Amino acid sequence: MAYLGLHALQHRGQESAGIVAANTRGMTQERDMGLVADIFTEDRLARLKGRHAIGHTRYSTAGSSQLINAQPFLIDCHRGKMAVAHNGNLLNAAALRLELERQGSIFSTSSDSEVILHLVARSSARTLEGALVDALSRVEGAYSLVFLMRDRLIAVRDPHGFRPLSLGKLDGAMVVASETCAFDLIGARFVRDVAPGEFLIIDSSGLRSEQPFPPQPTRQCIFEHVYFSRPDSMVFGRSVNQVRRKMGVALAREHPVPADIVVPVPDSGLVAALGFAGESGIPFEFGLVRNHYVGRTFIEPKQEIRHFGVKLKLNAVATLIKGKRVILVDDSIVRGTTSRKIVTMVRDLGAREVHMRISSPPTTGPCYYGVDTPKRDDLIASAHSVEEIRAFIRADSLEYLSLEGLRQAVDDRDTFCAACFDDNYPIAVNQRAGTQANLFDIPR
Ligand code: AMP
Repeated sequence: MAYLGLHALQHRGQESAGIVAANTRGMTQERDMGLVADIFTEDRLARLKGRHAIGHTRYSTAGSSQLINAQPFLIDCHRGKMAVAHNGNLLNAAALRLELERQGSIFSTSSDSEVILHLVARSSARTLEGALVDALSRVEGAYSLVFLMRDRLIAVRDPHGFRPLSLGKLDGAMVVASETCAFDLIGARFVRDVAPGEFLIIDSSGLRSEQPFPPQPTRQCIFEHVYFSRPDSMVFGRSVNQVRRKMGVALAREHPVPADIVVPVPDSGLVAALGFAGESGIPFEFGLVRNHYVGRTFIEPKQEIRHFGVKLKLNAVATLIKGKRVILVDDSIVRGTTSRKIVTMVRDLGAREVHMRISSPPTTGPCYYGVDTPKRDDLIASAHSVEEIRAFIRADSLEYLSLEGLRQAVDDRDTFCAACFDDNYPIAVNQRAGTQANLFDIPR
């Protein structure tokens, strides 16, 4: 089940994947670099023995892309064996690590998530749950976590609820996953989201829920709905598909333009483009074709690979494009390099006009809460006007959905973080440190 679930969550990270399985006798771990389908051979799955399991697919926001950082982490401490999988990014991990190292801790990864395990191991709380609460009370930032012990599973969401985490049920067993599309695959029923700040203990006696942390304003990641989540998931109680369609409709209303075809940038612009085409009455065409056998370009951390990846990933359909006025719809512009290449490709095939429409506002600030974004200087919209970006990507026109339009599409009741668009960071960040990776790699 964990293996299948990871397949459904592969889009959330393609650098490495792992599973830890447990029963009352012990715990086993299999993890490696690469894709779920390649890592888990029959032999490796057979080696995973247990009645319950957790898994993880990783793309790095903090800590480099290498095997030692592949999750779930599995450790042995005086409280027994314990595994953890973390979605998010901790903001004070570097400071905590320094403090722990001075006290004698020896770290074996360069991941922010390992800090949590050290804090748990050192806590003097009487119970394991107490130690987890103790540890998490000391970390700041974004975390949706699953812990696995021999006899229980614990799921926790940080008090702001930055990253998603959902609870499902399958034949009387409880399941948690970042997105509900994982439940669909294994035939589990979606029950509800794990609430921000909630601490859920699942063991043979059932499910217990606690709220051990001081409450905070909910700040769910708006970018999950813009880009990150799969459209077949329910995220933060909203259908990603429906939200994206509304974004496309609002974009067409805000920024109409006469044209012959609406073409999505696959896959990220697909649903918004459908909304745009429906609202504008301009025919929707699959004018760009994506090669599905290469990973999401952005997720590979190296710049050279990313540039190569754009060409490898997308091609335009010449017969659809030639002589047409084309509206291209994508979800976001980050560095601007993808849009520039796509616009050039479409022009080279004889498009008469190319109009770019983006179903979110200009990305002006990096994310410190778990979405991998380049540092501020590399975000084209942080220092350039829409007109300058239009000129850079060589489009005839470029327009973005307004922040107001986006908030309406997600039905934001003051429960979303949109810091990447409005610079309103719910948890103060050491901006000097730049990217998330830097936050953790502060010289010590
Ligand atoms: P860029 O070339 O940097 O402007 O990249 C823009 C493309 O990257 C768009 O097609 C987005 O769908 C996609 N994108 C935006 N944010 C991310 C992210 N955090 N991870 C991966 N891809 C992203």
